[in-house]
Amino acid sequence: MLIETAMTISKNLQKITNTIQATAHECGRDPDEIQLVAVSKKFPTAVIEEAIQAGQTVFGENYIQEAQGKIEEIGGKASFHFIGHLQSNKAKIAAQLFNVIETVDSLKLAANLDKHLKIFQRTLRILIQVNIGEDPNKSGAAAVETEKLLLDIAQFSNLHPVGLMTMPPYNPDGEASRIHFRHLRELAENLTEKKLFSPHHKVELSMGMSHDYSVAIQEGATIIRIGTAIFGQRQY
Ligand SMILES: *Cc1c(COP(=O)(O)O)cnc(C)c1O
Repeated sequence: MLIETAMTISKNLQKITNTIQATAHECGRDPDEIQLVAVSKKFPTAVIEEAIQAGQTVFGENYIQEAQGKIEEIGGKASFHFIGHLQSNKAKIAAQLFNVIETVDSLKLAANLDKHLKIFQRTLRILIQVNIGEDPNKSGAAAVETEKLLLDIAQFSNLHPVGLMTMPPYNPDGEASRIHFRHLRELAENLTEKKLFSPHHKVELSMGMSHDYSVAIQEGATIIRIGTAIFGQRQY
């Protein structure tokens, strides 16, 4: 596996932080309202430790089994967002391990999460994953289904729906993501007006990855999820 050295990780994080600040200032936003989730999938615990040393405290993981060992090893030093496709039969362990689940896209999954959270006496912030670009290869609720899904989720007292997440159809040109990010923001504004998000939290828009996060910030992202630009290429 190609592992970036601690020095490189620290430098990459600094570069991204600078870009977040510059981009936020250019579009009149407060950089403090943009959270960087470092996507550590396919990288070992030692690499996460290096990022923690460099000051990063929030990480994103895609695979339950892989994440479990890493989160247990890291302990309380960091918090973790689940950003992969979550099968209902993995809801129990996800409900136990993660601080935020960004990829809720069905009532069945929400019901399963809530059931286990009640047993664990935990509450959990969730985002609804929206397939905003209607990409047949991507999971996520359709934009038109999101309102109904949130209305139904309101019955689950241990889930706090705080916003929307999306991954647009892949295009190496980050500008191609702009229209999708804009649509996600407009959808979130509409759902906020209808009071469908938790009143106890600020509304989150999780969008933007290594190649398009500046565009996402310009379009209103409050959470950006970056892997490659911090840790280097993943090996599959
Ligand atoms: C892998 C992944 C990322 C990070 O992608 P990079 O291109 O490596 O920055 C972000 N979001 C999701 C949902 C991912 O699966």
